[in-house]
Order: sequence, then C-alpha cells, then structure tokens
Amino acid sequence: MIPLLLLQMSWAAGTQCVAKGDHRKPKPGELAYQKGDFLTIVDTSTKKGYYKARHNTTGEEGLVNSTKLREREALRVDPSLSLMPWFHGKISGPEAVGKLQPAEDGLFLVRESIRHPGDYVLCVSFSGEVIHYRVIYQDNKLTIDKTQYFYNLIDMIEFYSKHKGSIATTLLKPKQKQGTKSAELELSKTGWLLDITKLKQGETIGEGEFGAVYEGEYMGQRVAVKTIKCDVTAQAFLQETTVMTKLQHKNLVRLLGVILHKGLHIVTELMTKGNLVNFLRTRGRSVINSVQLLGFALDVCEGMEYLESKKLVHRDLAARNVLVSDDGVAKVSDFGLTKLDLKVSDNVKLPIKWTAPEALKKEKFSTKSDVWSYGVLLWEIFSYGRQPYPKMSLKEVKERVEGGYRMEAPEECPSGVYALMKICWEQEPRRRPAFHKLREKLEGEVGKCSLSPGAECRDGIRSASGC
Ligand code: ADP
Repeated sequence: MIPLLLLQMSWAAGTQCVAKGDHRKPKPGELAYQKGDFLTIVDTSTKKGYYKARHNTTGEEGLVNSTKLREREALRVDPSLSLMPWFHGKISGPEAVGKLQPAEDGLFLVRESIRHPGDYVLCVSFSGEVIHYRVIYQDNKLTIDKTQYFYNLIDMIEFYSKHKGSIATTLLKPKQKQGTKSAELELSKTGWLLDITKLKQGETIGEGEFGAVYEGEYMGQRVAVKTIKCDVTAQAFLQETTVMTKLQHKNLVRLLGVILHKGLHIVTELMTKGNLVNFLRTRGRSVINSVQLLGFALDVCEGMEYLESKKLVHRDLAARNVLVSDDGVAKVSDFGLTKLDLKVSDNVKLPIKWTAPEALKKEKFSTKSDVWSYGVLLWEIFSYGRQPYPKMSLKEVKERVEGGYRMEAPEECPSGVYALMKICWEQEPRRRPAFHKLREKLEGEVGKCSLSPGAECRDGIRSASGC
C-alpha cells in the first residue's frame, strides 16, 4: 500500500482550494466552512497536516485539515465557452422572434442586424411580444437611448440585467446560442470567478496592448488586474485565462481568478518589481551582478521547463513578458499566444526579433521555437535589457538570421552562457536543447560562479559573494 503521506499534496501560499465537506463546528483556531466553499491557503508553516486558510467569501481565517480540501480544478479549454452566450451573430428579426419562444418576460438575445451590418439589436420578450432595440454606435460607445452609454455589449447587458432603464423590462434570462456555454457559469462553478465588490483598486502600473494593468487588493492579497474592455478581445483572452487555470509553478505568474464587469479583468499575483526589461535597464551593472542574472535565467528556464512538460508552447517569450516578484524571483507571464493546438494559424503580429526562423516562415511553433526565443531572452538578460539586434530593422533581422547571422555576445557575458545562446539559435530546431537540458547547463554555470567564494570565476565573472 502507498503510505498516505505520499499522496498528501503540498500547497504553496495562495493556492485556491475547495472544501470536500462541511465543517460547521470548528475547534478554537479552526476555520468553519461548508462543502463547496472556496478557501485560499495563506500559511503553510502551521501544525502538521494543517494549513492556515482564508475563506474566500467571509474573509475569516483559521486552521484547516488538508485532507478535507482539494485544489480548485482547472477550467477545460473549450472553444464553446463564451462571455457572450446570448450573442447570436447575424440573424434576422423573425429568426430572433422564433428563438425567443415560448414567450417569457425578460428572455433576451443580441443579434447583428442583417439589414444594417455591424449594427447590433437587443431583442427582448415582454408581454407576449418581442421588442427589438437598435443599438447605436456613437463616439466609440454603444447606446440604445442616447442616455446610457456602454463600452461594449457585455457592459450593456450587465446594466440592463440590473436596471430597467428605458427598455420595457430588466433582462432576466439569456437565450443562449446553441453550442455555447456560459463562461460566467463555468468560471463560477469552478471557483475562478472573483467578486468585484471585494477588489480595492489601486494605481495603474502598466499599459497592456488591450487595456491598462492596475494594482489592487483582493481580500488582503496584493494583486495585479489586467482589464480588457473590448468584448471581442475579452473573448479571445478567455483562452489565455483557461490555459492559466491549469498552470501552477513558482516561475509562472499565478492566476488568482477573473472578474466579469464591463468586460474581463484578469487578476494575478502582483509582481511588484515589474517586467524584467525595465528591471534590468533601470538598475544596470552597478546594481545587478552576474549571479543574479544567472538566477533570472534559471527562473525563466524552470518556468519554461514546466510548460514544456505540459506540452504548452508560449510563442511570445521575451524579457518584457517576464515579471519580477517582490523577493526578486522572475516569472513568465503573458500566455496570450499560448496554444494547445499548434496548427491554428491566427494572423497575430509576431515578435520578429524573438521568433525562430521556422515559426516566422512556416508558422511552425514548438517548444524548440520557444527555446530560440529563450536564447534571445538570455541575450537580453546579459545585456541588461538592451533591445536585441541593436540598430537592425526587422526586415534585416529576418533576412540575415535566415542567412545564418547570429548576435554577438553581450559585453562581459560569460562564454558558457553565450555558448548556450548559440545552441538555442541552431537553425535546425531538433539540434536545439530541450529546456530541461538547458536548465542543467545553467545550473552548471551557476556552480562555476559560486565554487569558491571571493575567487574570480571563468571569463572574469566573480563568485557568488562578489559577482
Ligand atoms: P500586454 O501583454 O497586453 O502587453 P502585459 O500583461 O504585458 O500586457 O502587461 C503590461 C505591463 O503591465 C507589464 O509590462 C508590467 O509592467 C505590468 N504588469 C502586468 N502584469 C503584472 C503583474 N502581475 N504584476 C506587476 N506588473 C504587471
């Protein structure tokens, strides 16, 4: 028989768990919960077999027996998951009427007008009739009555589900498009849906391609919130989020959950030291030594080794997509392009300077194309955040790299590390090492650097105490 201890999960602080049963009469110091409640592990150094946890709804904290919990499950990647299951696309008025039968006050759907392509229509069942409200697009916003304006359809439906406004009835029940599943429902069932009222919004800390990133506090935990206001983009980001629910690793930015409010808000752990490029640029050689650079390289490599083990391809690995935590740990973020299905081509703008030749030419993305990008990232790390291929245009980079050109070693870069970059940039993907091999080699480099404290190590890089 396998000893029970071996089966025992060890959870890090921040892990989201679900209660397997009720615990209504807690002893002093213990936390009360009911079956299905969501709890966050806050302290792992408590008595054996116990964790300190916070109840996600009440905010109370106390000890919990770990065998009474299971980890929150991941969402399945499912293309039918929709943030707008009530959106039926291009259908005619009579078709919409047909779909809203049998009549029921507040049953609704949104369609795209056939007569006026690009215009939306909100169709609502009320008093046995279906009323069609034309949605007007004005000044980048949507409106029905020119009084209430909305960022997007999600925002509009959220409003009229709570307020009647100037329409006949509040929206009570979405008529779901056949073949779609409500993302809101699935997120809520699995515990990934967070509550906007528990979020304290702070300063803006970054500007993403699709919206701002701000810092905040969610039930006592410092978080980063990425907002996506455009509904179509939000839908695309749902994929990013679903992939992230599966991933738990110390070197990957952890997803805490999502909030659906006027669009999509992706809530992750806060990485107080920002992205790695800025981190390196603003500090430079005088502050950061080679051992620390190797530490970042190793952190990213371990995160990528984990993705590799999950057969996931990142596709946009670069120092700008690596974030640094308060305690100086580098974590890979931005899984926007991560795909399980590598055949899907989606005309995304590719980061030319980081993308492997076969991926640029034939869209052949693989772990080995991530390894190429990792080589570029290593170059960025050891050049303290310089832009790769300095002074070369994108066209030039594409042509010259294809012809065999490779970047020179950054100034004062250990030759062992430059050798690693070079093998990451082998033309033939098969000849590039896997991330687990790269990690072993990097560990060797760290070893060389910290063998004898105070001594100069190879290539003029000094040891751990002095590097
Ligand atoms: P996009 O992928 O849309 O460009 P990012 O996710 O890269 O957006 O975020 C943009 C910037 O916001 C980052 O470069 C970083 O400075 C900041 N940022 C993003 N996520 C976090 C986080 N979890 N903690 C701290 N800062 C973050």
